[in-house]
Amino acid sequence: MEAFDVIIIGRGITGLSTGFHLKRYGIGSFCFVAPSRDFTNCASINSGYAAISTLDNISRTVHGHGEDAARNLLRLGRIGFSDLMDLITQFKVNHHAGRVYRLTQSDMEAQEMAVASSWLASNGFPSSVSLDGRGTRKLTYQSDGAASASINIGSLLRHMEEDLSRKIFPEEVIRIETAPRHISVVTSSGTTLTAEVVVVASHLGIKKIIPNMESCLVNHADQWAEFEFDGGHPFLTPGNLLLADFSQYWISVTSDRKLRAGGARYLRKWAGVEASRAHLDEKITSTVKQRIESLFDVKLSKPTQQQALLELRACDEIPIIGPMYNDSRVLMASGYMGSGLTLGCAAGRGLSEFIANGRSKTVQAIFHPKRLRSLTE
Ligand SMILES: Cc1cc2nc3c(=O)[nH]c(=O)nc-3n(C[C@H](O)[C@H](O)[C@H](O)COP(=O)(O)OP(=O)(O)OC[C@H]3O[C@@H](n4cnc5c(N)ncnc54)[C@H](O)[C@@H]3O)c2cc1C
Repeated sequence: MEAFDVIIIGRGITGLSTGFHLKRYGIGSFCFVAPSRDFTNCASINSGYAAISTLDNISRTVHGHGEDAARNLLRLGRIGFSDLMDLITQFKVNHHAGRVYRLTQSDMEAQEMAVASSWLASNGFPSSVSLDGRGTRKLTYQSDGAASASINIGSLLRHMEEDLSRKIFPEEVIRIETAPRHISVVTSSGTTLTAEVVVVASHLGIKKIIPNMESCLVNHADQWAEFEFDGGHPFLTPGNLLLADFSQYWISVTSDRKLRAGGARYLRKWAGVEASRAHLDEKITSTVKQRIESLFDVKLSKPTQQQALLELRACDEIPIIGPMYNDSRVLMASGYMGSGLTLGCAAGRGLSEFIANGRSKTVQAIFHPKRLRSLTE
């Protein structure tokens, strides 16, 4: 039975970022347990945009959770985005830096944008709302500053893994067992590993490994498609993340001729909430395509790639990051509200701080799993 100080379950951005920061803290004895990455089992390698903000406009968080929560979420986004950009520079990963734009033709959303933008600006985030005067249709857009990038994320994850050069057990974890002196991690092939601390960064796999999270994390089905277009549109600039119609459509411009887009989840049963699997829906792809064509007056190719997958949201729509309330030797992170690359990167920094120091400067209490518990400690 092999023993480590820390076992990290998952090889997506959350797991690898945790490993990266553990190494910086000089914690050398850790390993990864997770099958080989592919589009279906690792959400991190999907569409490849990174943004400070979540897909929902910030006013939604302010209304639902208050200003402090919104500030903490943006602060976490800033830390994760900055860490991600440092990693990209360190490993010379192909990327395009861009901006986040929210776009609408609805007067009501334009009014909401004005509220959100003014809140952002008064909290130190450069943000403005403008009207696009080109063409015949009215298009209001909110610019959230230079806070987005499209990244060759598969390449980044490979570089991080190679740089860490830690043992990888390419297996699925079926359960963890906690004992007073150690935690055992049991895989589907019957391997048992032990550690003092286990980081559960397995995204969709979290609910099986930590059954207490079953009711806290809610599945959402989603999909993306890649299209080609003739370049030249000012919004369709590489690196930009475009969120249209209350973020019901998202578009990540990956090069001067290609974009990846998704959304239109309202076309799914229950908008994809609590789906047990994600299936590709051609109606969604064609609706997304039509909406982009009409918004930007461009012609898109047939989809060149498509992928359906499940995402997880916390039941209260705030990321869940930190030690578990019933055993602080088990740490987890998920529920990134559509900004998994950025917030997963920040989560890895925060989880490693918990392991090294017993507390985290990066991850504030509002994100800790214990907020979902009504019993006292
Ligand atoms: C359609 C779609 C597109 C998206 N696009 C973007 C985007 O462009 N930018 C963005 O920021 N966010 C995006 N997101 C969200 C984002 O991808 C996720 O929030 C984020 O990648 C989660 O990262 P993670 O490391 O926690 O999990 P993952 O990247 O999913 O990694 C999970 C890891 O755990 C492993 N694992 C799972 N179960 C087990 C188990 N039982 N045992 C062992 N290992 C296990 C997996 O193999 C994998 O290695 C998108 C989501 C969807 C649904």
